[in-house]
Amino acid sequence: MELIEKSAFAVNEQGYYGSFGGAYIPEMLYPNAEELKENYLKIIYDPKFQEEFHTLLRDYVGRPTPLYLASRLSEKYNAQIYLKREDLCHTGAHKVNNTIGQILVAKRLGKKRIVAETGAGQHGVATATVCALMGMECIVYMGEIDIQRQAPNVARMKMLGAEVRAATCGSKTLKDATNEAMRHWINNPVDTHYIIGSVVGFHPFPDMVARFQSVISEEIKKQLLEKIGRENPDYVIACVGGGSNAAGAFYHYLDESDVKLVAAEAAGQGVNSGHSAATTFLGKPGILHGSRTILMQTEDGQVTEPYSISAGLDYPGIGPIHAHLFETNRAIFAAITDQEALQAGLELSRMEGIIPALESSHALAYLKYMKNTGNEVIVVNLSGRGDKDLATYSRELGL
Ligand SMILES: *Cc1c(COP(=O)(O)O)cnc(C)c1O
Repeated sequence: MELIEKSAFAVNEQGYYGSFGGAYIPEMLYPNAEELKENYLKIIYDPKFQEEFHTLLRDYVGRPTPLYLASRLSEKYNAQIYLKREDLCHTGAHKVNNTIGQILVAKRLGKKRIVAETGAGQHGVATATVCALMGMECIVYMGEIDIQRQAPNVARMKMLGAEVRAATCGSKTLKDATNEAMRHWINNPVDTHYIIGSVVGFHPFPDMVARFQSVISEEIKKQLLEKIGRENPDYVIACVGGGSNAAGAFYHYLDESDVKLVAAEAAGQGVNSGHSAATTFLGKPGILHGSRTILMQTEDGQVTEPYSISAGLDYPGIGPIHAHLFETNRAIFAAITDQEALQAGLELSRMEGIIPALESSHALAYLKYMKNTGNEVIVVNLSGRGDKDLATYSRELGL
């Protein structure tokens, strides 16, 4: 994990990416935020930390994940298409890269307990997993409605020893769970660490999460060099909910202007359908979870309820790093509908024998919009596996 401090796309001292980011937090959170901000870089670039982190990534998570040349897909889309197989990580997605990193930070800060929020339960499971691994107490806040909707992940968290607490206020979903988790952290600043699940929230969370996920592009560079004799592809494509798998896949390419970066957002039933999560198409700058970013909101600044068929992309904002990539035109943002994602998921299953997470299917669906000449090298970040989405695929595709 290398430091890239000089990049125009790296966070600055104040926690900003261009005009996005920062830490817009209640005074009660200052001590926690300060403690983390003062220590996180010292901790994660300590050689002992790096050794422990990379040993766990190798022996527990199963890294490096393969970079797979998808031959049949390549032929169909007239390009060399490589899949970065984050679906093969332990727990079935990239999220564990971050939870491993953060629990090691928590240990070094002397914390005894982990608190987290979860929507669909994927981040809750990744957090409960590393808490079990480290023998740490784990409390996961989850909206009451999500607890009902996501029963298998609730069962997984309980099996792993986590306590799942229902958020019963407001819409009883992710944002209410986030509020409860924050409140818990404010009330227990000394012994608790809050593990956030994406490149969102206040500084230094987005930067810390991006650094942990940057192992993805670190590996892509090495693997491409071995396979094609150069580190840089022509395109890297990833889906964006909060944006952690995309941040990881883009990270070491941010300053390589010959590499085009594509961020696939969830258009839901259509960008203008009123049921969408295409943040850059529908959003405006504002403050969400302590960070200035682009978010979907009403005229008077109320956060709009997002919608996507894939739970991981069902978020009204994007991380501040992505707001900056959008504003500077460094990344191409695409809006992919539910139907396009479902079809792309079916296509990968039938053509390559790989069932992708519905989130990852949004990235795959971008391929049909490309006009390739046969020489392009394209890396699609396959953020997770589709087992959790089988019921949805079956119902929607009439299988
Ligand atoms: C959670 C999740 C996402 C979305 O989160 P990001 O922070 O945007 O990466 C994407 N894919 C999978 C498989 C997920 O579990």
